[in-house]
Amino acid sequence: MTAAADQSTAAARRLLLVHAHPDDESIGNGATMARYAAEGAQVTLVTCTLGEGGEVIPGELAHLTADRQDGLGAHRIGELAAAMREVGVTDVRFLGGQGRYRDSGMLGVPENDRPDCFWQADLDQAAGHLVTVVREVRPQVLVTYDERGGYGHPDHIKAHRVAMRAAELAADPHYRPELGPAWRIVRIFWNRMPRSVLLAGLRAAAERFELAAEPEDVPGVVADELIDAALDGARFADRKAAAMRAHVTQITVDGGFFALSNDRWQPLVADEYYQLARGEAGSARPLTDLFAGLPGIGATGIEA
Ligand SMILES: [Zn+2]
Repeated sequence: MTAAADQSTAAARRLLLVHAHPDDESIGNGATMARYAAEGAQVTLVTCTLGEGGEVIPGELAHLTADRQDGLGAHRIGELAAAMREVGVTDVRFLGGQGRYRDSGMLGVPENDRPDCFWQADLDQAAGHLVTVVREVRPQVLVTYDERGGYGHPDHIKAHRVAMRAAELAADPHYRPELGPAWRIVRIFWNRMPRSVLLAGLRAAAERFELAAEPEDVPGVVADELIDAALDGARFADRKAAAMRAHVTQITVDGGFFALSNDRWQPLVADEYYQLARGEAGSARPLTDLFAGLPGIGATGIEA
């Protein structure tokens, strides 16, 4: 066993996050990652593409886009590394290795048909790469998107499908035993944004900025009653903001707000919300800890 693997299985609590592009993890889970890393849990991020198809905000980096030098993917590897330093996450991986799957672009663009894009990837082959990670890290908790990928981006939908399929395959002892002993993930959460929180934040954004985002611009928005876990991000709000700022080509942060390349401002919400897709939440819903009440994990996170 390598030193890294040894360390990853030594932590009692192990969290795996599966995301589509560099920046999604900081926007959706920056405070969650910072919290669990600070508490000594193992936090593993798997990002499925390099985000090669993204737009670029700063004019001096505009040459990086796919239609010019096509250097954005390589650049975003560095942005992701910087962001993860801000939240203290050291285990960062790309599905199948760096550049294995290319950004598919927004739904309906010609890039969706490129044979090397993530949208076109064979589902079980892509999931197989993730099974390797699951069986090595043995996470109790997986965080990813819902079946719409939160808001319909092909890479987000595909990340959902790959994560859910990998969870199933990893638990099957007959599936590729050479990848390690079968491992069953206890809880799977989907990233969510409660509608009331978003609407309040968008009203505040509209008062301060010329152009505020619409609710449809924000992924994972659901009725408040559907929230199964709500994590207080106050202590890690500055870490989350710093991680988002590290994605220089993608995000502009201004106080408690941020904008993507469409220049529509939305609230930078430090608290992070989840809906439970697999497993039990117990009676204390909404959970304030994704690991709360899991067998073998005490209140302090020490393996019982
Ligand atoms: Zn994305």
